[in-house]
Amino acid sequence: MRPLRHAREDAPVRSSFLAAGALALALQPTDDAAPAPAPIQPTAPAADVSVPLAGPAFDDDAALPTHADDVVDYTLRATLDPAAHTIHGEGTITWRNTSTAMVRELWLHLYLNAFKNERSAYLRERVGGRGSTAPEDWGWIDVRKLVVRAPDTVPVDEWPRAELKRPGDDDETDARVPMPREIAPGETLQLDVTFDDKLPAVVERTGYRGSFHMVGQWFPKIARLEPDGRWAHFPFHHLAEFYADYGTYDVTLDVPAGFTIGATGPTVERTVAGGRAIERHIQGDVHDFAWTAWDRWQTFHETIGGVDVSLLYPRGFIRVAARDMASIRFALPYFSARYGRYPYRVLTVVHPQNDVEEAGGMEYPTLITSGGPWLTPPGILDPEITAVHELGHQWFYGLVGTNELAWPFLDEGLNQAAEVDAMGRWRGAGSAVDLLGLRISDANLQADEANGRAHDEPVAQSADSFSTGDNYGALVYARTATLIETLRRVYGDDAVGRALGRYARRFRFQHPGPVELLAIFEEVLGAHVAETMRATLFHEGWVDFVAEQAVTREAKTEGGVFDVDGKREDVRSVTKREGGFDSAVIVRRRGTLVLPVDVAMTMADGTTRVEHWDGEGDSKRFAWHGAVALRSVVVDPECRVLLDQNVENNRAATEDGGGGAWKTLERATYWMQLALQAVAP
Ligand SMILES: [Zn+2]
Repeated sequence: MRPLRHAREDAPVRSSFLAAGALALALQPTDDAAPAPAPIQPTAPAADVSVPLAGPAFDDDAALPTHADDVVDYTLRATLDPAAHTIHGEGTITWRNTSTAMVRELWLHLYLNAFKNERSAYLRERVGGRGSTAPEDWGWIDVRKLVVRAPDTVPVDEWPRAELKRPGDDDETDARVPMPREIAPGETLQLDVTFDDKLPAVVERTGYRGSFHMVGQWFPKIARLEPDGRWAHFPFHHLAEFYADYGTYDVTLDVPAGFTIGATGPTVERTVAGGRAIERHIQGDVHDFAWTAWDRWQTFHETIGGVDVSLLYPRGFIRVAARDMASIRFALPYFSARYGRYPYRVLTVVHPQNDVEEAGGMEYPTLITSGGPWLTPPGILDPEITAVHELGHQWFYGLVGTNELAWPFLDEGLNQAAEVDAMGRWRGAGSAVDLLGLRISDANLQADEANGRAHDEPVAQSADSFSTGDNYGALVYARTATLIETLRRVYGDDAVGRALGRYARRFRFQHPGPVELLAIFEEVLGAHVAETMRATLFHEGWVDFVAEQAVTREAKTEGGVFDVDGKREDVRSVTKREGGFDSAVIVRRRGTLVLPVDVAMTMADGTTRVEHWDGEGDSKRFAWHGAVALRSVVVDPECRVLLDQNVENNRAATEDGGGGAWKTLERATYWMQLALQAVAP
């Protein structure tokens, strides 16, 4: 998903780089603080210990698994009434106990109930960001029956015994269903389910407007059972996304003839009869299923890298929709090369119209929603960024199925890093804005947003622990991306790209946690890099490099009073015969993150001397004798450390170089270089 500020075109980028007024627009979602629930504790490694941790085998696709372990299969039929905005659903769910424990209950997520009333956790918790207004029309899901079929057990409808609410909590999104008997490890259940949905008016990813229907979180979905037998079940929280097991979805959609459907997975059957269009979609190796139906969708198809890409867009949106397709044309092969082959035959891109923007900027398996008004200036790359971002989720969410409530940075953060990298690779220094000579990179926007909130709360915490939607966006998305981008610039694209690629391939179709991510980075880049990541993500780690002092003076002999052979001599300091200058700089590292930097000294004749500091210790002094006087020093002249809290103090000058203060023109030039990223690699 993309935070609201990106998904909404009236919500501009916010950057101190731009404060001079280039894009002097304001977006500050409200910051109503809410008490944060206790964070989820880090879990033990989720990986199957019998599989090798990683290693170079996962640097290419040779060792990629072809299929996921099929844990839960859904065979559903959904009938849409577009006038009442209801969906009647029925079918079967087949579920296997893959844990090592006996199971006495199932947990079902009924996430449409988040929009049922203002006692839902989702609507109670509103802390700013997307979906912060109540829907104009409520939505819900009513389960009618849930018949449990297990070997040697009489089939029984367990739904009357289901508990939707907890004492003192009227949320109805997380239902506990007792089982007729204990379900042993390895045993498979079949559930016959019937349900009725009422869609809300479009709110946060799902809903209707007129005959437009975007249908997400619409069926009773079994929570994931962890290997140790703990259910990872949770209400639909305001800032959180989802978590589920892999399986095969066989879904038959029944809509009025004349409606165009976009859905997860390829169409395997389509018939039109009796005024209804019936489409069957089957997709394996996924953990969710979403669809849209509208009688006004325009469609466009293109094959990209062997994948059948369908684009659904409103009339009049062809130009911005074409930008979606151009983004996919670049990013689908790019992400496949970086993070492992895209394994599905199809991809559907849904571009919602302006009045249902909250349906945009969202990811589902093989289906993403993009965004942007029909008239988005070509130099504002928000449509491209949204399309690239949501496509990236096919890897960081879809193929690597992390717990999005417990560790949102593992999907949104790593995906934001993938977005920043891809946009930079594709569009260079103007990867966010490239307008009338003004070029601003996605990377710089992320850094600027992230660094201002570094001390507020940790990045690596559960989604429902964040105090505000702003902090969730700035820390989960922007700070994770800024960390990865910093590592990429400091330690090289090759190594950091390899680490992320190895992680994505090794844990394809699995459910890793931070332990696995840090282990792979340690494996590729070493313990010090893993430690930098741990400090940044878990401990509000920060860094501020400072150019503290730059001094230069004519080289002179030592003067003073000297006692030599019983005689006292008063010696005047004089210019050395060889002339030249003694110069020194002191640079300082504030904060808890140790990162290596270059230190660039500019001389009076315009030449530059570059020293390297490993970043160890609080400060470093460089002193030398040379023919030319020093003028100024800059720490990290290429702005590799995007995590640097304050780049304004990265430069110091000698008295001859303009004194402690910068010359106005020089400062302006430096700032423009930063803003335009002209000095960045
Ligand atoms: Zn996202």
